Amino acid sequence: MTDLSKLHTDKLYINGQWQNSHGGDLHAVICPATEEKICDVVQGTAEDVDLAVQAAREAFKTWRTTTAAERAAFLNAIADGMEARKEELIEAVSVALGCPAHITEWLHVDGPIYATRYYAKRAHLMEETEKAGHSLIMREPVGVCGFITPWNYPLHQFVGKVAPAIAAGCTMIAKPSEMTPLQDYVMAEIIDSVGLPAGVFNLVPGAGPIVGAALSAHPDIDMVSFTGSTRAGVEVARAAAPTVKRVCQELGGKSPFIITPDADLEAAVRWGCEDVFINTGQTCTALTRMLVPADRYEEAVEIAKRVAEEVKLGKGGDAFMGPLSSARQREIVRSYIDKGVSEGARLVAGGAEAPEGLEQGFYVKPTVFADVTNDMTIAREEIFGPVTCLIPYKDLDEAIAIANDSEYGLSSGVWAKDAESALPVVRRLEAGLCFVNGGEFNYDAPFGGFKRSGNGREFGEAGLDEFIELKSVQMPA
Ligand code: NAD
Repeated sequence: MTDLSKLHTDKLYINGQWQNSHGGDLHAVICPATEEKICDVVQGTAEDVDLAVQAAREAFKTWRTTTAAERAAFLNAIADGMEARKEELIEAVSVALGCPAHITEWLHVDGPIYATRYYAKRAHLMEETEKAGHSLIMREPVGVCGFITPWNYPLHQFVGKVAPAIAAGCTMIAKPSEMTPLQDYVMAEIIDSVGLPAGVFNLVPGAGPIVGAALSAHPDIDMVSFTGSTRAGVEVARAAAPTVKRVCQELGGKSPFIITPDADLEAAVRWGCEDVFINTGQTCTALTRMLVPADRYEEAVEIAKRVAEEVKLGKGGDAFMGPLSSARQREIVRSYIDKGVSEGARLVAGGAEAPEGLEQGFYVKPTVFADVTNDMTIAREEIFGPVTCLIPYKDLDEAIAIANDSEYGLSSGVWAKDAESALPVVRRLEAGLCFVNGGEFNYDAPFGGFKRSGNGREFGEAGLDEFIELKSVQMPA
């Protein structure tokens, strides 16, 4: 066990210093597995945001003139620091989110370390120019950025914004979710220890409607990058509009998974269920609408039931699924399960009542609904819990129509006889991501949604593009 109590959670990190908040309100971070308080975290105010923005604005003047090689060296030093403090990062995420530690390591921490080094390798792109006829195209950093992140993959979302912003030469203010701020404190200490110039990175935790709203509206912030619910993303864009800042939104999803008639049904259904149950269903890309050929439907339902019943719940050891992140989240998930039953879906596994033997902690059972139609609430709204819906289809045209019949377009999946034969179906899906025959997440590729799942892209080179202003220089002929 590491000692998270040594983190400076009573302070904000502004201009290279641990500082007091102007407000001093505290927010208790609760462990969802034990329901006990881990620690209190100080909450910033709009005044604190002003100070952080001033520091970031001042730092931008010189930071933007650093070389790509200097910024790459900082990123590699941060990645080294993450390796050195990996156990703390795992614990910081695991204890506040409830994800078992052995899963937190590969699901929440290894990827962000990789992505930090990835952007170290891409910083040089900022210095490359392109020719377009008689013009020269230069890349410049967008400026001072505000980052607002959710609780479900807290280190991913931190790194998906902070690492490319550093590579680009931007300065920034990060605001984590009130529920999972601890890994941001570890990261602030790592960033401080590598000597990043004061003001380049600032940390102001706090409430969404206070700190998040102040970042969104701030006239001296050039870009706000938001990850979270579509509801809050709309609020951020509204608040940002008068200042014409760039707004990048990474929002929710209700993603489809098409299993084609010639697929290996056992492998496909198992993978699809585990995709929903991992991280207790709190994954924005979760493939929560499983579309199955009608003539193999009951077979698929039986497999899904078996997979759900095999899932090992708990907070440690070899548990696959921890609790939901909060009592509130558990209430939301339970009410969706009740809604599914009342709208006529068939509850095949799981249900709203607490799992046996786990009365303490915000646990729910892995839940499978059959006989779901795409107009039911559980097929339209993001549940953000371990609940999967099996929907039958008669032919692939119908499957694709059902898949695309959603206001969201973040992710999708296809499982076919082989990867090659999945591609014509992939081409017709309205989503920013598609997982084919169990393909894994890839940090080198862009991540983001179509439709109301957002307008931004993180990771890959597209994730760096978010932080770039293009300058066209018209040279004499
Ligand atoms: P949320 O929208 O409630 O909160 C996200 C962040 O926004 C938090 O830091 C919160 O404090 C802040 N916030 C809330 N109201 C705000 C306001 N009015 N102004 C500014 N900031 C505000 O979301 P959540 O419950 O923390 O996270 C779950 C949601 O995030 C799900 O919808 C999920 O799909 C989405 N998500 C999307 C992605 C993606 O990349 N597309 C990744 C992870 C999570």
